[in-house]
Amino acid sequence: MTSAIETAARVRAGEGRAADVLEEHLARIAAHESEVHAFNLVLVEQARAAAAAVDEAVAAGRDPGRLAGVPVALKDNLCTRGIPTTCSSRILDGWKPPYDATVVRRLVDAGAVIVGKTNLDEFAMGSSTENSAFGPTRNPHDLGRVPGGSSGGSAAAVAAGFAALGLGSDTGGSIRQPASLCGVVGAKPTYGLVSRYGLVAFASSLDQIGPFGLDVADAALLLDVIAGPDSLDSTCMPDPPVQASSRLGAGVDGLRVGVVEELASAEGLTPPVGICLREAAEALAAAGAKVDEVSVPATVYGLSAYYLIAPAEASSNLARYDGVRYGKRIVPSPDADLTEMYLATRSEGFGAEVKRRIMLGTYALSAGYYDAYYGQAQRVRTLILRDFEAAYRDFDVLLAPTAPGSAFPLGEKTADPLLMYLNDVCTVPSNLAGHPAVSVPFGTDHAGLPLGVQVLAPALGEAVMFQVAAALEAAAPAPPVPAMRRMGGPA
Ligand code: GLN
Repeated sequence: MTSAIETAARVRAGEGRAADVLEEHLARIAAHESEVHAFNLVLVEQARAAAAAVDEAVAAGRDPGRLAGVPVALKDNLCTRGIPTTCSSRILDGWKPPYDATVVRRLVDAGAVIVGKTNLDEFAMGSSTENSAFGPTRNPHDLGRVPGGSSGGSAAAVAAGFAALGLGSDTGGSIRQPASLCGVVGAKPTYGLVSRYGLVAFASSLDQIGPFGLDVADAALLLDVIAGPDSLDSTCMPDPPVQASSRLGAGVDGLRVGVVEELASAEGLTPPVGICLREAAEALAAAGAKVDEVSVPATVYGLSAYYLIAPAEASSNLARYDGVRYGKRIVPSPDADLTEMYLATRSEGFGAEVKRRIMLGTYALSAGYYDAYYGQAQRVRTLILRDFEAAYRDFDVLLAPTAPGSAFPLGEKTADPLLMYLNDVCTVPSNLAGHPAVSVPFGTDHAGLPLGVQVLAPALGEAVMFQVAAALEAAAPAPPVPAMRRMGGPA
């Protein structure tokens, strides 16, 4: 497969047609989507029309933009005007947003071709895409295993070659962890760098939209296209956006890289993850970086703080799904009153994990417990931020595992929510701090399944973060390529 950057260059130069690029991807979808289930909806006709419009623009001498003709998969919690947006929940049955998310507008303005809406854990709550009301997505590297989550559909779509790029959302790791398990690059930007307008809210102080790509340069380009101020999102920074792609070829000579001790020895890490992390650190040292260990002590409380703050915010955000305003409404009997309608709608509309989060969050915010749970978690959040800031006085970037292990078998962790939550131990600290982090494929486990290593950077440190990510990518062993991606041309 050619990279998104090469595809856009060829289409802009009139050397290749967006329509042909799209058909190549649609052929892979036709052949393998029934096995993978990356999509809730494939937008065949809309995508063909978009690709044709790109080709017409080129023929007429206009420049369609930086993503000309590049097929992109969108997580199905990003609003698309007139196109169902389900969050993989029954409660949004039949709902069609009346507007596009800002990131969707920016993609279209850059000439991208949107191929479909991808599966996710319901409302982005989960780490395996098994919490979807529409059934799980499967990992293109091994169909018996999960793709990670919650943006598992977008990660799988890119890994399988169904789309060249993908967008996900990352509240506690939902871009980086599936990127790691699917052998692709995935990044969570600095909080406020990308507009969240039109992203269905899970935990508003943590949510960020970010890119998936087959390589670091593609992911950085996608981030550059979607980043930047937006008057429609008051949490979006007014400053000019940082250029994620600006230092990709600069190497790492003299850069200071800190391996986070607490994350390198986090609970539940499998041995191959430790080996890959060490090899990644050695590779950066060999490339000229000054690599050392660093302690970021409060990160050990990250998971506990996250699983209070995220459910607390979710319990408030999800109160709007009451059967009155969006999607599904269940009226249990002809003479049911409003409360009975609310109860029936929410009982049937939400899945088990979403209900668990609403209950946890409501409890953490309730009178008498607020200070002990939610308040305490917020104080821990401040400590994590301070500890990161201290680390960044001595280091340009930090290194950590992305996930505790490789892709696990479907069903392995569904019966034990705490086991599932442990997947996020290395990713949630960046969300709590609001800092950016990217997962880069680096090595495999004993079975040849991909593993990822995380590069963390201070707020608005995307340029140096992708600079180091590019060096890691250059030093990494060739990542495994799922057979289905080889279809229709060389991988
Ligand atoms: N796995 C984490 C959770 O279930 C993170 C999800 C996310 O980033 N959206 O909350």
